[in-house]
Amino acid sequence: MLPAQKISTSCLRTISRGFSTSTILGSKSQSGYNFDLTDTQQEIFETARKFAKDEIIPVAAHHDETGTHPTELVKKAWSLGLMNGGIPEYLGGMNQSVFDGCLLNEALSWGCAGITTAILGSGLGQEPVIIAGNKEQQKKYLGRLLEEPLLCAYAVTEPGAGSDVNGLTTRAEKKGDEYILNGQKMWITNGGVANWYFVLARTNPDPKAPASKAFTGFIVDRDAPGVQPGRKENMMGQRASDTRGITFEDVRVPKENVLLGEGAGFKISMAVFDKTRPPVGSGAVGLAQRCLDEATKYSLERKTFGVSIAQHQAVAFLLADMAIGIETARLAWMKSAWQIDQGKKNSYMAAIAKAHGSDIANKCATEAVQIFGGNGYNKEYPVEKLMRDAKIFQIFEGTSQIQRLIISRSVFEEVKSNPPL
Ligand SMILES: Cc1cc2nc3c(=O)[nH]c(=O)nc-3n(C[C@H](O)[C@H](O)[C@H](O)COP(=O)(O)OP(=O)(O)OC[C@H]3O[C@@H](n4cnc5c(N)ncnc54)[C@H](O)[C@@H]3O)c2cc1C
Repeated sequence: MLPAQKISTSCLRTISRGFSTSTILGSKSQSGYNFDLTDTQQEIFETARKFAKDEIIPVAAHHDETGTHPTELVKKAWSLGLMNGGIPEYLGGMNQSVFDGCLLNEALSWGCAGITTAILGSGLGQEPVIIAGNKEQQKKYLGRLLEEPLLCAYAVTEPGAGSDVNGLTTRAEKKGDEYILNGQKMWITNGGVANWYFVLARTNPDPKAPASKAFTGFIVDRDAPGVQPGRKENMMGQRASDTRGITFEDVRVPKENVLLGEGAGFKISMAVFDKTRPPVGSGAVGLAQRCLDEATKYSLERKTFGVSIAQHQAVAFLLADMAIGIETARLAWMKSAWQIDQGKKNSYMAAIAKAHGSDIANKCATEAVQIFGGNGYNKEYPVEKLMRDAKIFQIFEGTSQIQRLIISRSVFEEVKSNPPL
């Protein structure tokens, strides 16, 4: 059971209200960058870390082995105020900064990245409604997440279209005051446990219509007739997370559930990532930090040739390289979160935070297995799971190749618009 340290709602509100990230990390108008967390942020991190240690780690192997959804832990996290941080204050939410959300994500992912996806993945489904929903939509759909430990999901990917969102074939046809939705989504986190979905569908039948006009974002109730989640996918890692395909067959969606307006869906779906990629990067850093912690502990205990393996420089340097990667990936998520919290454009840094954090998580997991030797290859030890859990960071929310496309485009644009040489 979790003792003491419940993060009180008022404490979280203080974090989001009282400390702008310019106070947290400094701003150019004050004293330049400042890398200290406030006391309240330190508390949020430590409380989440404690939750990870006391609640998540003891059951992580079980959920990994069985692939069962950690429903009870989700309820506990909800009651402690660890979820739904980004929901606006006027609805009773915390309006948490992206930075603070990233801190939480890093601390929880240190315990188990799969369980963290089960706890925090609903944030991806909420974001389109936070950034583009009207008051009625927000009250109805975000409000209920605060009243009960319910989850939502972001349903964009399809069997035939992931990176290439323009290739979506799910379609919605307007008939009177409603839309009729037909199609199939794939790889939807929370697919089987969500109360409602954000769904992106084509509303303009003209295949030549530009993406910026062809798609519309809808809020779709899980219990609407014709919504059918598929079986839970049997995944390599993050097996606690509920990932499924979903079929929509003649689902009637009221026009009140359109976000912003017909044709605005693509922009909404992409804008979300500026806020959700920094926490994916921070989650990856949490996993990487766990790899370093496990490998360091093991290297001090395990002896070969009469000394601890930590005393072999080859092993010590592996640990040093892990630390270098973790520290730089952490700075990347911090900068990308700080930018968006300051109202600055952060797509470039968010892509760097996501790509670098994911690569570092995979590198650290591979090196941790190496340091554990044969034991690293055994399910009795924690690091093989870390290696499996790490891989998805390079795939979901835009693959590492797509992040590099975004980064390289920014590099070209910058050089063209502001030639340095
Ligand atoms: C566990 C899990 C959870 C997920 N959760 C969600 C969710 O909640 N909601 C949701 O909508 N989706 C979700 N996804 C889907 C995920 O975002 C996609 O799998 C991802 O975007 C890649 O799409 P794809 O699988 O179709 O691969 P593809 O797009 O077919 O890509 C295949 C390979 O080609 C590369 N590639 C593709 N295009 C290019 C290019 N232009 N240049 C260079 N390389 C390229 C890719 O990087 C990749 O290596 C999830 C996926 C998984 C596995």
